[in-house]
This record gives sequence, structure tokens and C-alpha cells, in this order.
Amino acid sequence: MTAASAGPEWARRRTYAIISHPDAGKTTLTETLLLEAGAIRLAGQVRARGQNRRTRSDWMKIERERGISVSASVMTYDYRGLLFNLLDTPGHEDFSEDTYRTLTAADCAIMVLDAAKGVEPRTLKLVEVCRLRDIPIITFINKMDREAMEVTDLLDDIQDKLALDAAPMQWPCGSGQRFRGVADLKRDSFILYRRPGADDEETEPSERFDLTSNSITSALSAEELNEVREGAEVARELCAPFIDQSFREGHLTPVYFGSALRRFGVRELLDAIAEIAPGPQPQAASGPSDALEPGGKEVAGFVFKVQANMDPNHRDRVAFVRLVSGAFRRGMKLKTDSGKQLTVANPILFFASDREIADEAFAGDVMGVPNHGVLRVGDTLSESGKWRVSGIPNFAPEILRRARLKDPLKAKHLKKALESLAEEGVTQLFRLQTGGEFVIGAVGALQIDVMAQRVADEYGIEVVFEPCPFETARWIRGDAAKLDAFIDRHKTAIAEDIDGALVFLAKSAWEVSYSQEKWPDVTFDTTRERA
Ligand code: GDP
Repeated sequence: MTAASAGPEWARRRTYAIISHPDAGKTTLTETLLLEAGAIRLAGQVRARGQNRRTRSDWMKIERERGISVSASVMTYDYRGLLFNLLDTPGHEDFSEDTYRTLTAADCAIMVLDAAKGVEPRTLKLVEVCRLRDIPIITFINKMDREAMEVTDLLDDIQDKLALDAAPMQWPCGSGQRFRGVADLKRDSFILYRRPGADDEETEPSERFDLTSNSITSALSAEELNEVREGAEVARELCAPFIDQSFREGHLTPVYFGSALRRFGVRELLDAIAEIAPGPQPQAASGPSDALEPGGKEVAGFVFKVQANMDPNHRDRVAFVRLVSGAFRRGMKLKTDSGKQLTVANPILFFASDREIADEAFAGDVMGVPNHGVLRVGDTLSESGKWRVSGIPNFAPEILRRARLKDPLKAKHLKKALESLAEEGVTQLFRLQTGGEFVIGAVGALQIDVMAQRVADEYGIEVVFEPCPFETARWIRGDAAKLDAFIDRHKTAIAEDIDGALVFLAKSAWEVSYSQEKWPDVTFDTTRERA
């Protein structure tokens, strides 16, 4: 146990998310982190989110009855006297705006890179989102048990593509068949990788040696030892040193190496989170003052995700609320920033092995609040109702589709359905100024399918979302005369979003940059906050 347990409850929280390109190993790492921390006992639990776990607690019964799947949204576990909240960032097919918004609820991100591939496109996008709030990023280079890129190339890749200083905290010795382990540069020790034997479960995946003592020669050959020493030298002489402040400000990332699948380097990563990841930070807001402090008296939090029922006949929803201030107790009355009142009688806290009804929660925690559609993404909840948290934007869509009705007489109903689902955050909605057509926008394809399904099930309207000439969108603003001139020149590509903000629908990313160059007085935003 660390001294952390003596401080205020909120200061024990470490709330983080894992970001990665598909297949880099996020799921595997999530599972090994939980195993290593002792939060789950058997491999396969994270992946098998479903069936056999569903009968274990009352909450799961609620989940089953209500058809709302919240299983892996947040995983809470203890480690070294701290409370870790690991937020799940939907990936693959379920990639959506929720993935981006979850990052607005995290205080730190773990960036997982495939050692053979370095920085991939989705990683890049997710890091851009982290940048909006400059949250610190810890890098884990995964799959060292396979052939990897040169370490210096990996570090350069981070530096070049992400404009982040990369500070190696470790230096690996070999990779793939030749992978021997990593040198811990701070402690001057070597963590030896033990290749799994015939009986995987029995083999301890690692052992630590003092690099300055003789015992290391029993583990590494002279040549390997030389490679390790040279690596450490390169790190010292040529790489960015770890500077806590730069890390906290989001300019520098400490880099760790390992293999999630072989459970190697995962404990070191947990230790890194415990030692360097920041706890809850003050949250920018408008209201009685311009920030909510984690140690503040008033309970406040914001909704970053709403999960709907899988059964279309139910209006039940679970809103995920990230607390930013105060000590929450079950049964508290909270108000949204638009004045709606809500008694939070049965909030849910998420423990990795099981789920419990929460009695109390603190800044840094996430709780699930069951409701009937009252809570929307971006809402702030507080005791006074006077706060509005900033920094939970909409993100420029990457997929745009035109809504085409099968029955044109249902136009009015369609408008209502699209607006209501857009308000909930399922997709974004744009209405072309010329012609009045609806275009919906999403960052993941599944969002479009969900929208079509829900319009059909809940509103009884058959709608087809078909490809349209637009590929991306930017919110536009600027000096009135210049803006008008721009709008005039692009009449058929100007739309309004659900709050009436002006949007430029572009045919390609290239058209966006071309327009930016040609119209320097117009600002093209990739995110927009609710007014
Ligand atoms: P995700 O898409 O980022 O969640 O990636 P997964 O965790 O599903 O992993 C993708 C694939 O890579 C799976 O087949 C994993 O078994 C494999 N994988 C994950 N981590 C490692 C690793 O450290 N070493 C090796 N060799 N394979 C890994």
C-alpha cells in the first residue's frame, strides 16, 4: 500500500482510457492489466463480456431485464492503494463519437502501439482528441514477442507523426524470437522475458536482475548485455529525458515495452500509471466560477455517453456520468444545466469482477445513471444546477449520409425522429440550407446502422441513408462579411446543425484544406461545443 490511501478519496482515483489502432492489442492489454492487478482471475473474462457473467449480480439482472449492455464500459479496480477507473473506448465496428467523448472523461491515456507498425491512422486521430484537453499519454509498445521495428524508428515515429517527445523509460533487448526483455533505465535493472514453456500458466513471465551485479551474466550473453548497455547509452544521450511537467502538459510521452499476450511488461505499466498518471484535475466550466475543483464541496459531473436499450420498446437509458467535484451519495438530488431535476437513487459503479450499486462516489469516478431519456450527452449534473462543464464537443463527422424517405408523406415525422436521436448523440444531424435535405454524420459506420434501426423501430419510419457527395464537415465562423461571402460561394454545401450552427459540408479532406487556404478569414472547426 502507498501513502495515497491516507489522502482524500478523490485523490486516490486514476481515471484512464486505452487508445489504439484496431488489432494493436487493446483488448488483450485491458485483460492483462486486470489480471495483473488481481481484479479478475481468469483470462477470457473481458472478451467474454456476455452470457456466463450475466447472472452474477442484481445489476446484471437489471441489465438483462432492461436489455442495456454496460458490461465493459468502465472497469474499476484497486492497485497499490489507488482506485483505477479504466474507461472502455469502443473500437473496431463500434467505433463512434463515444470513443472520442470517452477521452473527455479520462485524466490520462495509454497509447498502445503494435511494435511492428508504430503509429497507425486511428492512433493519430485519437491522439488529436487527447490534445483538445492536453491529457497526458503513456505509450506501451506491444507485441515485442514478434519482430519489431528498430527502437529508434519507433521513437522517431511517435515524435514525427504525433509531435510528442518520446522518452524511453525502458530499452528492449531484441524482439520476436530474439526478445530477451527490457532494461529499466531508471532503476538500472533488467527485466528478463521468460518464453512460455509447455505449461503457460505456470511460467512466471518475468524476472528482474540488477544490471550492475554479476548475476545478470547468468541471464544474458555478453553480446546481449552489450546490446542492452548500448541501448541505455543511446537513450541517455539521444532521447528526450522524462520530465514530469512536460508529460502532464501533454507534450511528452514516456515509452514502455512489452507483450500484452505474454503478460510481459504489464506490471511495469500498472506501476507507471500508479506513479506518474495524474489524479482528477480541475474541470473547466461556466457557473459560479470558471472551474470545478475535484476537492470542491458541490457534487458535479457530466454525461459523456448514453447507452440505449437494445429492446426498442423500452425507453430506459443509462447515462455515464464522470464526476468532477464533491462527494456523491446515493439518493442525492441533482439538476441538469437546463434545470431538470433527478433523484439518483440507483447509480451503478463498475467493478471489474462484478458490479455494485454505489453508495458513494468521488471526483474521478464514473457512475451509470439509469433514466428515461432525461439525460443527454454533454449535460452537466450538479446540486445547484448552476454549472456547465466545457470541453465536451461534437466531433466533425467522417461519414455523411443523406436521409431518403420511402414514404415522402412522413417528412415531418422523420424530422422529429432524426432530431430527437441526434440530441441523444446517436449521430449528428445537418440540414442543408438549400433544399432542406437532411444529412446525418457519424465517425463510425455502426452509428449509421443504429440510427436507421432506431428510426424504424421507435418511430415506424422506413428511411434509407444513402451516400451523398459530401465526405466530411467543418463548423464555420468568422467575420460576418467574409463568412457571408464564403457561404455565397458554397451555397449548396452549407448546412445547419441541430443547434443552428453553420456547417460547411466538404467533398473531401482536400477541399477542406484548399478552402482553409483560400479563405484565411474563415475559421473551420473540427469540433463544436454546445452553446
Ligand atoms: P484490439 O483490436 O486492439 O483490441 O486487439 P486485440 O487485443 O484483440 O489483439 C489483436 C490480435 O493481436 C489478437 O490476435 C491478439 O491475440 C494479438 N496480440 C495482442 N497482444 C499481443 C502480443 O503482445 N503479442 C502477440 N504476438 N500477439 C498479440
